[in-house]
Amino acid sequence: MPSPEASSSPVASSAPAASPSPTSFATITPTPSPDTSALHAAIDVFSADIESYWTVEYPRVYGGDYVPISQLLAYHDVRDAPFCNAFRLRLRNAFYCEAEDYIAWDEHGLMLPLYKDAGEFAVAFVLAHEWGHAVAARARANLPANVFGELQADCFAGAYSTWAEARGLLRPGGTDAAIFAMYQRRDPAGTPWLSEDAHGSALDRIRAFSAGIDGGAELCAGYSLPSPDSTPPGLPPTAP
Ligand SMILES: [Zn+2]
Repeated sequence: MPSPEASSSPVASSAPAASPSPTSFATITPTPSPDTSALHAAIDVFSADIESYWTVEYPRVYGGDYVPISQLLAYHDVRDAPFCNAFRLRLRNAFYCEAEDYIAWDEHGLMLPLYKDAGEFAVAFVLAHEWGHAVAARARANLPANVFGELQADCFAGAYSTWAEARGLLRPGGTDAAIFAMYQRRDPAGTPWLSEDAHGSALDRIRAFSAGIDGGAELCAGYSLPSPDSTPPGLPPTAP
């Protein structure tokens, strides 16, 4: 979810195993349990639906065909966390690796707790957020600072939630579950707006998500603004 989303400690490079099947869902270390089977079912439903969403929306917003995500990966501890370039992914995190075009997450440290604490749409939000980064990479969005990319991903997740609602996948409480996920991963008070690690305050993130609900992916695409002084649509003109 957040970036840089990879450890600041470089480890010997070792790319994750590639899968030939688009959007295949693989657990690096299978850990069968009743809890994870329900989580996996939700991930299967939402990952397929988010892919459907972008197959429709990407050509409309950006032009050109949407290219499916190459791989989805779940990991469970630091020993099986995949690498992105030379960096090993962190625990309790989710991440889009542009170099390998995969989305990965810590199953036991992030997704399962979110699923248990807030419900399936918290998991859907994380997936939709990471998919948003993948879409920005495909569109070669020229985002002026990390926080713009993070808030754009939140905005895309909001746009997706409107689609999910129309398809009966955003159930009562779903939006609250997404907000729960954003609140948990907000920037601490006082984080500089243009800090390399900035993701936005809880309010920024929820505003961006709401902007996506109201304005759709076209509005979110407008986060690719030319100046670091610019403010994403849907956010106040003076950033914290
Ligand atoms: Zn992110």
